[in-house]
Amino acid sequence: MSRIEMKTPIVEMDGDEMTRIIWKEIKDIVILPFVDLKTEYFDLGLPNRDKTGDQVTIDAANRTKELGVAVKCATITPNAQRMTEYNLHQMWKSPNGTIRAILDGTVFRSPILVNGIKPFVSCWEKPITIARHAYGDVYRNTEFLVDGPARADLVVTYPDGRQEKQTVFEYTGGGVLQGQYNTDKSIAAFAKSCFQYSLDTKQDLWFATKDTISKVYDRRFKDIFEKIYKEEYEAKFAEAGITYFYTLIDDAVARVMRSKGGFVWACKNYDGDVMSDMLASACGSLAMMTSVLVSPEGVYEFEAAHGTVTRHYYRYLKGEQTSTNPMATLFAWTGALRKRAQMDGLQDLENFAARLEKCAVSTIESGIITGDLESLLAHPDKRVVNTADFLAQVASNL
Ligand code: NAP
Ligand code: MG
Repeated sequence: MSRIEMKTPIVEMDGDEMTRIIWKEIKDIVILPFVDLKTEYFDLGLPNRDKTGDQVTIDAANRTKELGVAVKCATITPNAQRMTEYNLHQMWKSPNGTIRAILDGTVFRSPILVNGIKPFVSCWEKPITIARHAYGDVYRNTEFLVDGPARADLVVTYPDGRQEKQTVFEYTGGGVLQGQYNTDKSIAAFAKSCFQYSLDTKQDLWFATKDTISKVYDRRFKDIFEKIYKEEYEAKFAEAGITYFYTLIDDAVARVMRSKGGFVWACKNYDGDVMSDMLASACGSLAMMTSVLVSPEGVYEFEAAHGTVTRHYYRYLKGEQTSTNPMATLFAWTGALRKRAQMDGLQDLENFAARLEKCAVSTIESGIITGDLESLLAHPDKRVVNTADFLAQVASNL
């Protein structure tokens, strides 16, 4: 059988532990037999990050900027325990954080829906994608314990020495105080990534803040979205038959719970943190949650939302069979192949990505599953298999 051709390589970022094992199995079993795969390989596994002083992560991100599409395996973010386990020179930063800083992107997460695994919210028929603004706000706050009586002031000092000052509160006793910030640049990049992603996937975009209470801070988010929409996207949205909808965060939550799904929900940093956990658990399993980082220039990095599945890896090292779910990592590959195909105008490759996703979903729907789905899938005749056997079934469906 002749394999499907590619033009431009995908940036391939390998990773750690169980997902590194699955990574190779996915390539060997469901991609390489069908596609003449072209990638530029970067080994982001922790031993190589340590060896290169984390330069490999920076190189991979910079190359992604040039080529436009990357696929990333889950990676270990080192902590104290990993320092000894891997005998590290340094507690390297989270690769995802480094890549996001270089691409200045927004992370979009959406569940893979399968017949037989009903979301707990029964009206959700299509996936809801959450876009989280992963910059600033409470994640970069400055906090005080105030041992009052005391007065707290906010002061802004400009380069020419000019100052603006407001009193926040006059404390009569003890209390707490917090300062938060964000920037026009980051909010605009977030807005552009959201409009771009919605256009790409032909889904409506919802955005919500608490601008009735936060009349300057949250209002700024609303205004920047509105301005970019009017200037750059309104006509394109009309042409694609999709809409941009702004509402209050309370109203958004109420509407989401009654919706059929099938839209992108842009969230401020904290809202996105909380709501993506809500979405993931309502849809069953972290192993069925996909994730893509989209930069405002339209650069894409696809990955799974879950980590390296350490507990399964330690069992694998002991020689035990593991039944780790490869769906989210598989969808990272299909996402990257589809995007590459669209950028290069390769219809066969685009069809292949769609077919591979369909075959993976239908494998689960036929009752052949990994262990994590056993309690979730309604099927009269379920069979739990290991990861390689699951992938072999997908390949056979293909
Ligand atoms: P995790 O790897 O997501 O795994 C947590 C648990 O969720 C697993 O023990 C497993 O439960 C279940 N699970 C997750 N993915 C699964 C899959 N594909 N199939 C079956 N079950 C799955 O999170 P973690 O254990 O907290 O983190 C492990 C490492 O991953 C850490 O070093 C962390 O730094 C890293 N991490 C990386 C990323 C990333 O690269 N994007 C994201 C998060 C975490 P059972 O054990 O009960 O089966
Ligand atoms: Mg969270």
